[in-house]
Amino acid sequence: MRLNIILQCTECKRKNYATEKNKKNTTGRLEVKKYCPWDKKHTVHREAK
Ligand SMILES: [Zn+2]
Repeated sequence: MRLNIILQCTECKRKNYATEKNKKNTTGRLEVKKYCPWDKKHTVHREAK
C-alpha cells in the first residue's frame, strides 16, 4: 500500500515536496536531503504529519 506524504524542510518548516512512500519497505519517518528554494540550499526534509 502506498501513502501520499508531504516533505517538510527542517530548517524553514516549509512544505516543499509531495511524494509517495511504500508502507512495506519504509519504516519510521522518512528523511530526505532535498533542495529547499527558500533556504537556497540542500536541507533535510522530513515527513510531515
Ligand atoms: Zn527550507
